[in-house]
Amino acid sequence: MSLSHHEAFLRSVRYTNERTKHFEFQVSNGHRFDFQPGQFISLELEPNGKKIRRPYSIASAPRADNGFDLCVNILPEGRASSWLFHLKPGDAIRFSGPFGFFTLREPSDAVSAFIATGTGIAPIRAMLQQLYSRPHHSEVWLIFGVRKEPDILYREEFEKIAEEHPGFHFVPTLSRPDPGWTGHTGYVQRHVVRYLADKKGFHAYICGLRKMIDDVSQELRSMGYDRKALSYEKYD
Ligand SMILES: Cc1cc2nc3c(=O)[nH]c(=O)nc-3n(C[C@H](O)[C@H](O)[C@H](O)COP(=O)(O)OP(=O)(O)OC[C@H]3O[C@@H](n4cnc5c(N)ncnc54)[C@H](O)[C@@H]3O)c2cc1C
Repeated sequence: MSLSHHEAFLRSVRYTNERTKHFEFQVSNGHRFDFQPGQFISLELEPNGKKIRRPYSIASAPRADNGFDLCVNILPEGRASSWLFHLKPGDAIRFSGPFGFFTLREPSDAVSAFIATGTGIAPIRAMLQQLYSRPHHSEVWLIFGVRKEPDILYREEFEKIAEEHPGFHFVPTLSRPDPGWTGHTGYVQRHVVRYLADKKGFHAYICGLRKMIDDVSQELRSMGYDRKALSYEKYD
């Protein structure tokens, strides 16, 4: 097995909402798997005897136990995601990596804005775990767009960070809220303008589908932001 090829087994899995699962893997045979928060793996599988690869962001910061998490949206017709859907504790996956440059900028003491939709939250959860693994006093915004309230992945974790760190602002926003929701509504773009227009010099990390990233980038650029102040990861 070359250095960048790894095997891991599934330690545990749970639904995070009806279409999304959170997976916790353990790298096998004591192999060391080093990565930076925000990077992704390339999963290698043969669902019907034909080899395919799919990128998945690592949803956790590096841990001492050499484990890592994935957060995957299950597409019923999707070859890789439906294969993952049926994975049971003890089952193995093969992957290569880590890959990608969607990682925290240094120094991280400036204002940071994280903007995600759906499972685009995965690499951002990893970066936030890293940021808050030590005292972090700078202003941080998390603007997270999903359809409905149960889709707010890792909600308790982000609410806990907000409780413990006055500089952390968690803005979940629903595009199709049920009656009774009193929080933010609409697309993330609206809240980017609302909360970030008067902030100067922040770095924005944006993750999700291409359309949202293009719209948010355009909004930020019209607010005077330089391309260099934006990092993004497109899932499609
Ligand atoms: C860098 C990177 C990181 C990624 N990280 C994650 C992650 O952390 N979690 C995650 O869930 N996904 C992630 N993705 C998307 C993932 O790689 C796959 O594209 C996705 O799981 C679908 O693969 P599949 O084999 O199940 O579907 P396929 O068999 O490839 O496609 C099935 C059908 O679904 C459509 N489709 C494909 N992707 C999407 C989509 N995202 N939304 C809606 N329809 C789609 C296709 O057009 C096709 O019609 C990431 C993508 C990239 C590029």
